[in-house]
Amino acid sequence: MNLTIAQQALKDYFGYSAFRPTQEKVIQAIYDKKDTLVIMPTGGGKSMCFQIPAVTMSGVCIVISPLIALMKDQVEGLRLNGIAATFLNSTQNYQAQSVIEADLLAGKIKLLYISPEKAVSSSFIPLLNQLNVNLIAIDEAHCISSWGHDFRPEYTKLAFLKRQFSHIPCVALTATADKITRRDIVKQLGFEDPTIFIDSFDRPNLSLSVLPARKRLDSIINFIKRRPSESGIVYCMSRKSTESVAEKLRAKNIKAEAYHAGFSAEKRSRIQEDFINDKIPIICATVAFGMGIDKSNIRWVMHYNLPKNIESYYQEIGRAGRDGIKSDTILFYTYQDAVFWRQMIEDSEYKQVKLAKLERMKEFAEALICRRKVLLSYFGEHLKENCGNCDVCLDPPKEFDGTVIAQKALSAISRLARMNKVVGTNLLVDILRGSKKQDITRYGYDKIKTYGAGGNHSQSEWLYFIQQLVNLGLIEIVYDENNILRATEASRPILFEKQPVKLVKRDSNQT
Ligand code: ADP
Ligand code: ZN
Repeated sequence: MNLTIAQQALKDYFGYSAFRPTQEKVIQAIYDKKDTLVIMPTGGGKSMCFQIPAVTMSGVCIVISPLIALMKDQVEGLRLNGIAATFLNSTQNYQAQSVIEADLLAGKIKLLYISPEKAVSSSFIPLLNQLNVNLIAIDEAHCISSWGHDFRPEYTKLAFLKRQFSHIPCVALTATADKITRRDIVKQLGFEDPTIFIDSFDRPNLSLSVLPARKRLDSIINFIKRRPSESGIVYCMSRKSTESVAEKLRAKNIKAEAYHAGFSAEKRSRIQEDFINDKIPIICATVAFGMGIDKSNIRWVMHYNLPKNIESYYQEIGRAGRDGIKSDTILFYTYQDAVFWRQMIEDSEYKQVKLAKLERMKEFAEALICRRKVLLSYFGEHLKENCGNCDVCLDPPKEFDGTVIAQKALSAISRLARMNKVVGTNLLVDILRGSKKQDITRYGYDKIKTYGAGGNHSQSEWLYFIQQLVNLGLIEIVYDENNILRATEASRPILFEKQPVKLVKRDSNQT
């Protein structure tokens, strides 16, 4: 089989004139009957990598896909392009399944989408034995790995399928690319000497910004008002906040709808359709929204809360700007979200891995260097130059002598500790800035010596400084004691020996 036939099929069925570079290589490897692992960012064009071999080779391609909704969409899309595709899953009755089986046996089907449970079921294996299978494609292959962000126990059984049909080439595809997950996919599927293709994860048309979560609603509203009629998604952590954010946007005459898994299937598909057809420009959603959505003109994606790892963050921002046109992504960050995730993870399986991933997410949010460098290095790529399209590149942190600032913060924490009083970040900032809030006077915080000593810096500057003092190891956030702040041993030389501290500041913080 050669690539000229593949190119012709690309034109005939999909109307595209050329393959993307990695697609071409993957297709050639499949023609050469190699087991293949394909890692491409969302929107990179993974499906074509198995759809083209499927339609150009004799026999049928079995596609394992984790979501029934996704299967349905793909099959409908293929049929519209005149390709004999179908799916088998638990939503179909016996009769419908029999019809499909007959079609399969008659060699009428080019692509069969099935769920992983179905693929390894005792009824399906004998059928598979009678078919001329040309390729097994495992979509969303990261689901096989407990290191991945979307582990599906059913996926682990697929190794069995690969063993049973070891003569059939297999292609595993995913947008999740951290190294452990990558290795785990290959190992679990029992690929011997696989060909691995890793596409660049860089999406230069997406701007990357991290803003403080304080007053995030105002920031969102101002952003949207500047660019009305554009499509965007606001990702929120909880179902409740999707609804409250949508509500608050509507109160400002911004057309927005909430979306989460608590809505009926009917309501969800209506909202999704309306979004795709530009009837609703803005969706405030939990991460349940977006998988498999093929909408190319999403102009921005915002995260109202911190995602729990970089893979999820990357997938979600990746839904913006699939058409290659400049698009924006904004993450609103507060360390309190990290604390929330930490608590959620505390009682869950694979705790250590999840905590490590959360830590990397936090490092991204607190980065003082080009964020794209941080992001891409997570995926094992190294950007040589700064990107020029992230908030750090556009407003770089400037180093200055932060000794006095550090002394003020550390001294306030230590004085309070000696009075047997504890403070969290917000209260500390209020004390330093000399806030007149009732709680401050009621509990006598206005009596300590450093009260008001930091009034020359804004609240957002202080939050930024404290974050740095934490990262420098001078302040510790005590997660298991209501996130109170404590001055560490390392802070003693700063307080008592005038050891200098370098901090950074940014123009955007001086508000
Ligand atoms: P992924 O599964 O990697 O997220 P898709 O397979 O859904 O990506 O492809 C993303 C978009 O790119 C789709 O709209 C698809 O039709 C389009 N596409 C894929 N390959 C090509 C190509 N060679 N030329 C032009 N468009 C392509
Ligand atoms: Zn940058």
